[in-house]
Amino acid sequence: MKTLYFRFALTTIFIMFLSGLIAFLLSNVYYQIKLKPYNDRKITQMASNIASFYETHPTVNLDHYLKGISHLGFQMLLIKEDKQKVYYGKPFSQHNLTQSTINQVLRGETYHGIVQFPKQAFVTGFFDDELRNTIGVPIDANGKNYALFIRPDIEYQFGEMRIFFAVLVALMIGLSVLLVFIGAYYIVKPIRVLSRATQKIAHGDYNIQLHVNRRDEIGQLAQHFTQMARSLERLEEMRQEFVSNVSHEIQSPLASIQGFSKTLQANDLPPEQHQHYLSIIEEESSRLSLLSKQLLTLASLDRDKGELDITSFDLADQMKQAVLMTEWGWREKELAIDMDLPSTIIQGDSKLLYQVWINLITNSIKFTEKGGMISLQIVNTSKKEVVVRIEDSGIGIPKQDLPYIFDRFYKVDKARKRNHPGSGLGLSIAKKIIELHFGSIEVISAEGKGTTFIIHLPYM
Ligand code: ADP
Repeated sequence: MKTLYFRFALTTIFIMFLSGLIAFLLSNVYYQIKLKPYNDRKITQMASNIASFYETHPTVNLDHYLKGISHLGFQMLLIKEDKQKVYYGKPFSQHNLTQSTINQVLRGETYHGIVQFPKQAFVTGFFDDELRNTIGVPIDANGKNYALFIRPDIEYQFGEMRIFFAVLVALMIGLSVLLVFIGAYYIVKPIRVLSRATQKIAHGDYNIQLHVNRRDEIGQLAQHFTQMARSLERLEEMRQEFVSNVSHEIQSPLASIQGFSKTLQANDLPPEQHQHYLSIIEEESSRLSLLSKQLLTLASLDRDKGELDITSFDLADQMKQAVLMTEWGWREKELAIDMDLPSTIIQGDSKLLYQVWINLITNSIKFTEKGGMISLQIVNTSKKEVVVRIEDSGIGIPKQDLPYIFDRFYKVDKARKRNHPGSGLGLSIAKKIIELHFGSIEVISAEGKGTTFIIHLPYM
């Protein structure tokens, strides 16, 4: 497998070599344009000095003189009038001087072989010790004409410098490669840690500790990843709690249905008791049916986030309709219903909002003693939102329970449950629907005095 570590290291090394190559080509261009003419001028100056010294001191033995100079680090060719060639210093690698060039210098002209040396991408010409890569100067002494071709002996003059640069470059490359591998290891390490953490999460273990103290993108990634793991953990806890709540809610009606149907199988029951047990079975089955309906509603609200079927309708009409729907409940408990519902046209998902009013009104009926009062109000003062208040004079909600009543399956206390059966889902469904309409729901309650739900619904 090509690991990220190797990819990273190899890419960096490739980039290093590529940069080296490009740098060489560019510096070669610089040599050709700037340094080569300078080098040519410099060597021409040296050659002229050598020639003029001999010309002004004609008694000097030319052979000894040139030999001495060659020992200072020069390669030379002396051509005499009779075409005799004498070499000094290190031999030239190629003898490629044309006869016309030789004649030209013998005639008294200077030959600029260094600056004329052909330009090539990978050849600087600086190191090429060919005869044509020389400077040719005429020497005129004692009435004799000579041609002197000269170039520096690079190996002699720069020998140790070349070794120095070779060692420098080799060490630079070697150390860079080594450090790239070490650096890549530390850069890639946190990604490996993250990868192991994802595997842990995939196996259901959310307890991950990432010690990535970096402030760069990888540090941020690790931080976000830890947050994601925490949310997943919470989500998993919520899911487990939800499943256990659902099972519990299903279990108790099923157990009572099972128990009563067993009892009903005994033939010697008096008819009233028979009837009573049947009505309990019916009640429990409708509880189960309501529960499954509520669970389906919640599931679809969770799934189709924000997908509302928006229409325009009169909120007052809808709330009156909900009061009519629950008439049987409040009539039976002889509750007074007070309505202050001015006609208000709103935009929203009418089916879902109807569910909200039904849930809130049935709760008010359920938790209000016989002869109590329920008040419904639409307050329509702002142009931005409409406020709905649903108030009852019921048993109220203890202060410590108030923060939780919108949680799924939350019921105030077990003792109440017997008198007021319910799933604990009604308020969470109502809240979810209101939030999908970008509104809010709040509760004010005092134990023994009553409860008020206040809903803010913005006009869409
Ligand atoms: P349930 O199906 O149990 O009514 P809800 O989610 O509708 O579930 O309500 C959650 C809990 O909040 C109820 O069990 C009840 O204890 C409390 N509650 C809701 N509405 C009222 C109210 N109007 N008066 C008093 N308590 C209420």
